[in-house]
Amino acid sequence: RLYNEVQDLKGNIRVYCRIRPFLPGQSKKHTTIEYVGENGDLVIANPSKQGSHRLFKFNKVFGPTATQEEVFLDTQPLVRSVLDGYNVCIFAYGQTGSGKTYTMSGPSISSTVDWGVNYRALNDLFQISQNRKSSIAYEIGVQMVEIYNEQVRDLLSNEISQKRYPSSVSVPDASMHPVKSTEDVLELMDIGLMNRAVGATALNERSSRSHSVLTVHVRGTDLKTDTVLRGSLHLVDLAGSERVDRSEATGDRLREAQHINKSLSALGDVIFALAQKSSHVPYRNSKLTQVLQSSLGGQAKTLMFVQLNPDIESYSETISTLKFAERVS
Ligand code: ADP
Ligand code: MG
Repeated sequence: RLYNEVQDLKGNIRVYCRIRPFLPGQSKKHTTIEYVGENGDLVIANPSKQGSHRLFKFNKVFGPTATQEEVFLDTQPLVRSVLDGYNVCIFAYGQTGSGKTYTMSGPSISSTVDWGVNYRALNDLFQISQNRKSSIAYEIGVQMVEIYNEQVRDLLSNEISQKRYPSSVSVPDASMHPVKSTEDVLELMDIGLMNRAVGATALNERSSRSHSVLTVHVRGTDLKTDTVLRGSLHLVDLAGSERVDRSEATGDRLREAQHINKSLSALGDVIFALAQKSSHVPYRNSKLTQVLQSSLGGQAKTLMFVQLNPDIESYSETISTLKFAERVS
């Protein structure tokens, strides 16, 4: 095992919390974040009850000033274990606006300091697989799908972008694209993002209500022994976890909310079952968990980014996000 430095995992599930900063124009005075500890402690203050706090524990907490690079440094060992043949799943959970896309992709791709986990991960995998003075030849391929209303859509299909796979669930049905460099990946992800916008009234609207899954497949062939090693990396930007007011949402909006609810709770149930070492893991309950099955459980390693808004108005969503995390860690 060359790259497996990740040993301190409880049931192979690791949970990081990341708090986004206040955005320009937002008041900096009212936050619920009371304390961010080096050791992974997070203290949240209850705004409606003076002196009332809650402590949450993570493998790591990234405060509002943490850079994309710092976040990736703690993610890198997991990414690299893919080259040793592991299946890895990294996903971001949180309400819309909490920084999921910022963490996974970044605010823009034009500047490499902005790059989120997915571009950095691919860049890293290319560098290692190409620079190694070893006898292993690596091939890397990517797939990109969107899960919306329990339907899986291939975002990189060469045919029409609207192609759907209503009855089939596994990513193997989505088109696979061999990539040789980070530039190849940037190009493909550009196409994926464009296809994601098709049919959506507003990109932000739609992207917050669907899950996007980028899958990286790595195949290493040992040229001396002729043995083949396979690993995969799922990078997931989940739909917003905010609860929708049932009295207000109707029609399409309500249907979307119900699908999101269903898939996020299915994901929570799967990770909870894995953390408990339960003999039954309920993968079949949603398209999301079916698509991610190979990278959840067994020898697979999972990293969840729990994304938080710092402001007081988000208090109840923050607590509900933290409760989700608490249950699975
Ligand atoms: P989500 O994907 O969860 O809906 P976004 O990633 O789109 O949230 O983030 C919401 C806004 O906050 C965006 O304008 C984003 O650029 C900004 N943002 C999020 N996280 C950070 C961060 N760590 N540093 C600076 N800006 C951030
Ligand atoms: Mg987003």
